[in-house]
Amino acid sequence: MIHLKTFTFNPFQENTYVVYDDAGEGIVIDPGCYTYEERQEFKKFITENGIQLKAIFNTHAHIDHVLGIDFVKNEYKIPLHLHPKEEPVLLDSKKRADVYGFPHYQPADVDLWFTNDEILSVGALQIKVLFVPGHAPGHVAFYFEKEKFVIGGDVLFRRSVGRTDFPLCNHEDLMNSIKTQLYVLPDEVSVYPGHGGKTTIGEEKISNPYVKA
Ligand SMILES: [Zn+2]
Repeated sequence: MIHLKTFTFNPFQENTYVVYDDAGEGIVIDPGCYTYEERQEFKKFITENGIQLKAIFNTHAHIDHVLGIDFVKNEYKIPLHLHPKEEPVLLDSKKRADVYGFPHYQPADVDLWFTNDEILSVGALQIKVLFVPGHAPGHVAFYFEKEKFVIGGDVLFRRSVGRTDFPLCNHEDLMNSIKTQLYVLPDEVSVYPGHGGKTTIGEEKISNPYVKA
């Protein structure tokens, strides 16, 4: 069985996910913990549940999704995975952090680069990397096909979609990503987004006001 834990961190109310198997092997997706309290909360959960974190997987490198990477890397000595097209966003993150008021943010180096459609194994987890640019140039989503859920970052939200009014965003790409990478998945697949509550592919195909199937 696969377990999924959701944290909501930092002033942007960003969702950080930990996915792990029965043996406790797992990954953290988009660690956004920034304050001392948030980092303690994260650590406590990992320790109390006997989780051995193996990697950091980032959907993209916007500031709210990277605020905890440095802490997690130092604490657990695990590699950061990111899509190569997201490198310019990560390189800009220190500047963004200063603009948004996170003076203690430390950018971390990427250890491994995702390739489109690859399937990565961590313990019992099988994670397919879907390339879904638009909200960010190298945005990816993580599809757990057997368990029927997607950790989608800021692409598709419950009744909404990711913003495309930032630098390096592209609205057409976003619409295309949703239609060709997400709406093709089975209706019952759950989507856990980077902000707000979960939804399903089927629900959004009918009810999303921005992109209908
Ligand atoms: Zn974002």
